[in-house]
Amino acid sequence: MELLFTLAQPTLPIEGDVRRFPVHRIYCVGRNFAEHAREMGASIERGQPVFFMKPADAIVTEGEPVPYPPATIDLHHEVELVVALGRDADGIITTADADALVFGYAIGLDLTRRDLQARAKAKSLPWDTAKGFDASAPISRIIPGGYPRHERLWLEVNGTLRQQGALTDLVFSVPEVIHELSKLYRLRAGDLIFMGTPAGVAALQPGDSFRAGIDGRIEFRGRIEAN
Ligand code: MN
Repeated sequence: MELLFTLAQPTLPIEGDVRRFPVHRIYCVGRNFAEHAREMGASIERGQPVFFMKPADAIVTEGEPVPYPPATIDLHHEVELVVALGRDADGIITTADADALVFGYAIGLDLTRRDLQARAKAKSLPWDTAKGFDASAPISRIIPGGYPRHERLWLEVNGTLRQQGALTDLVFSVPEVIHELSKLYRLRAGDLIFMGTPAGVAALQPGDSFRAGIDGRIEFRGRIEAN
């Protein structure tokens, strides 16, 4: 068969720049706020961070509608700080060196087919179909520079506050997450890391409008459309 197709590199806008940020991989941290771990019935011991991935082409960005995915009746929002790496890691990165890899940050939704996740958890099966589906990673433009560490992260759906939490309450900090990920994977420029969600996760419906933000830093709006 002739290869008569090309594939587009998924990219995100960068604030104040005409260039776009090419996305390599999307790593996600689970259970990184104690209150959210509690609401999911998980143990709140610190232990090791929980990691999973989404495909790079799962991103949907500003101005693009977010389609309601198939195979679920319980699509959940998880608002998260997203850190964007701008340098390749050379082996294991210490927490002291981790911030030097960071290009900037964004805010995103780790969309989750909660019904599929609950079934997977019950059978100790992987989370891929619950987490790594098409358009499962709505994400804002990237703001270059240092990421927020103390501010409030929040999400409104149809004008009602659904989630909020202080970034000081992250169980594993950004440098700790980069350190732990670098033991498992070769981190590369273009990697995105979803840092975990505060309490208040709940269902989204087709037609819902969302507004996500980090106080004083960034705001991101979007809409869930019937598929
Ligand atoms: Mn999450």
